[in-house]
Amino acid sequence: MLNIVLFGPPGAGKGTQSEKLIHQYQLVHLSTGDIFRANIKGGTELGNKAKQFIDQGQLVPDEITIGMLESEADKYPDAKGYIFDGFPRTPKQAEALDNFLTSKGTAISGMIALEVDEEELRTRLMIRGKDSGRIDDQDPAIIQKRIDVYKNETEPVRDFYMSQNKYTGINGIGTIEEIFGRLCTAIDAIK
Ligand code: ADP
Repeated sequence: MLNIVLFGPPGAGKGTQSEKLIHQYQLVHLSTGDIFRANIKGGTELGNKAKQFIDQGQLVPDEITIGMLESEADKYPDAKGYIFDGFPRTPKQAEALDNFLTSKGTAISGMIALEVDEEELRTRLMIRGKDSGRIDDQDPAIIQKRIDVYKNETEPVRDFYMSQNKYTGINGIGTIEEIFGRLCTAIDAIK
């Protein structure tokens, strides 16, 4: 299996690039942000719980997120591989994902990180807030909170994969096609 963790701060372009990568490599896209938003829209219990955290720019607690991700992955028993987008976001989630994949006889093939500077992230998120109506993208204070949470809670996940020699960083600035090309080069190198 080809199992990729697509990593990077909020607004780095993970969702956009995942959509292209799943077609190129026939992978299943698992975006925890998308799954939470679908649950919020559907008014499920999980959605109601998650919304309180998401609207504040905080992470949804690990217990909720890990269970949700695993049951979502289990919906695709015949998958050739997965792109994990927005997960893992804490070292605890990374450990849980390793254990989960080991129990399925597979593993993460590599983490690929989209590197984008903070100024560019703020600009992109404000534009997305206008276009998508996402509440968490409309308020500069919530955006800053998410960037800070990323630095404090999520960046350590990078070290987790670096210590396994599974990390590749790529430049996340450029056109969608340019960045897609860089991602494919990185993935072809770990396949
Ligand atoms: P972005 O990458 O732009 O922050 P996402 O769509 O990935 O957006 O996530 C939106 C929100 O959903 C996050 O700010 C967080 O509150 C919650 N979330 C998503 N994935 C996770 C996760 N793995 N762990 C905890 N919370 C998460």
